[in-house]
Amino acid sequence: MDREKLQKLRARYAERDAFDGDDPVLTRAASEVRSPEGRRSLPYSGVATFLGLPQATDLAGLDIAVVGVPMDLGVSNRAGARLGPRAVRGVERIGPYHPTLKGVPKARARAADVGDVPFNSRYSLEQSLADIEQYYLTLKARGIRPLSVGGDHSITYPILKALGREAPLALVHIDAHCDTMGAYDGSKFHHGGPFRLAVLDGALDPERTIQIGIRGAANMFWEFSHASGMTVIYMEDFLRMGLDAVIAKAREVVGGQPVYVSVDVDGFDPAYAPGTGTPEAGGLEAREGLALLRGLAGLNVVGADVVEVAPQYDPTSNTAQLAAQILFEEFALMTLGRE
Ligand code: MN
Ligand code: MN
Repeated sequence: MDREKLQKLRARYAERDAFDGDDPVLTRAASEVRSPEGRRSLPYSGVATFLGLPQATDLAGLDIAVVGVPMDLGVSNRAGARLGPRAVRGVERIGPYHPTLKGVPKARARAADVGDVPFNSRYSLEQSLADIEQYYLTLKARGIRPLSVGGDHSITYPILKALGREAPLALVHIDAHCDTMGAYDGSKFHHGGPFRLAVLDGALDPERTIQIGIRGAANMFWEFSHASGMTVIYMEDFLRMGLDAVIAKAREVVGGQPVYVSVDVDGFDPAYAPGTGTPEAGGLEAREGLALLRGLAGLNVVGADVVEVAPQYDPTSNTAQLAAQILFEEFALMTLGRE
């Protein structure tokens, strides 16, 4: 670099602070993330909330509610996803700027952490599912789009039942498992069957449903996915097709329909998400899953969740870290993707 160029850089940048730049996208983002005093809040300080959003004790005026659903009575194997919401709230430094959609989701919508679904019984799975449905019907009646953190995957059935009550929704579903099993040990309510129940209920359109990352010994149970017309992208298909083709397929399946996005962290490889109840080797890499979600930008996302975070099996906290990043990706899809 010649002397003259160095002098120009010094003149332009030597005294500028972190928020001071000439790029219009970054200038707008900077104005949205800093306080009137020109500072940002300390990420490790204060009461922990999802994505550092404000807490809300009532729903008035909200566009998006981030909801904890600490319920894991539907698991078939290791319990613990009831602790998922607390673990995800504890993750700091996610957002507020989205790097590929180039915007600040919380500046585009009135969003808040509204706390957890109130449950009437810690012992009854069926009562808990009814409590969830009731809560999400309240959100829907107010026109609030929900962004949820489970809990095991059984929570997605009552959420879909509420949101798809008038017209069946499309679905993008990332998971190691299709979760379209029938009754098991005498119960049709469990984390292996929410999407079968939602289809049979008329709340989910199977022909507008794509399931991605499917693998493992439970593949013997997914007849309903195929019989109902869902598009199933097994892990072998994902590797053969490649990321861009899978994104194109997802966009084709969903079309312009209102779509729900459901992410089970066990869709990711246990190397990235060991903190979950039913890990399956050979899953998505973190970067693949994030790129897949980013590839959905522009779809009409009416709700989303991330489920099955059981933090006690992951002393590194990476599973919760990944789940918080997924939550932020979903938040970005609901706020920035359609500009
Ligand atoms: Mn699942
Ligand atoms: Mn799963």
